[in-house]
Amino acid sequence: MERLRRGAEAMGIELSLAQLDQFQMYLEKLVEWNSSINLTSAGALEDAEMRHFLDSLTVSLAIPSGMLESGRFVDVGSGAGFPGIPLKIAFPGLRPSLVEATAKKTAFLTLLLSDLGLCDVEIWTERSETLAQNPILRESFDFALVRAVGGVATLAELTLPFCRTGGVVVIQKGPEIGDELDAGRRAIEAVGGFVKEVRQVEVGGPGRKATLLVLEKTSPTPPQYPRRPGVPQRRPL
Ligand code: SAM
Repeated sequence: MERLRRGAEAMGIELSLAQLDQFQMYLEKLVEWNSSINLTSAGALEDAEMRHFLDSLTVSLAIPSGMLESGRFVDVGSGAGFPGIPLKIAFPGLRPSLVEATAKKTAFLTLLLSDLGLCDVEIWTERSETLAQNPILRESFDFALVRAVGGVATLAELTLPFCRTGGVVVIQKGPEIGDELDAGRRAIEAVGGFVKEVRQVEVGGPGRKATLLVLEKTSPTPPQYPRRPGVPQRRPL
């Protein structure tokens, strides 16, 4: 975990021995479960310190520091917990809700949280389109995160309805965001958002680049969004 410790330090995050132990246990659980349910590719698992843990922690660079202390956030399509769980380990005061449609993955997440001793985390086995219409969750989060779930227009529709006005969405993308952002601008505005920043980050040192698309929630999302499950992917706004 030395590469992780140093990479986090370069982002201004000091990980204690106890936190590094939690990451080590996370890695062991991923290896154990990956043979029975497909949580991640073999290549990404071998390089999990960089490709999963540090890559997840980069989102902290785009979140206002006050929100990192005790903010409530939603991780949409969390899969094996990325980026939500690494962020919770590094910033234990956070209150995450992990949303994942696949029950096998949320079974993994439930056991993982108990093994890591993480509390104040909610897990929802449900499509995010359905949950975002639930009045308890809608317009309620300080920030929303999403990694590897789809294109910008789709992700704006899946995430922004969860955020309160003044909240923030961070969409993690690869080294280049390309035309996706231009294609997504209309969708971002339609669901109450505004492009705050496109930030290039280095994951664990020069050479490994990634992009954070940071949106701000500027007005409540109209009630018709998000549309029915599957529609934001099939017919992006
Ligand atoms: N975010 C994780 C990561 O970066 O490793 C998982 C990425 S994986 C490629 C996409 C995950 O999103 C899958 O586990 C899938 O079940 C989930 N997913 C996709 N659309 C979803 C939706 N609308 N609601 C909830 N989960 C969704």
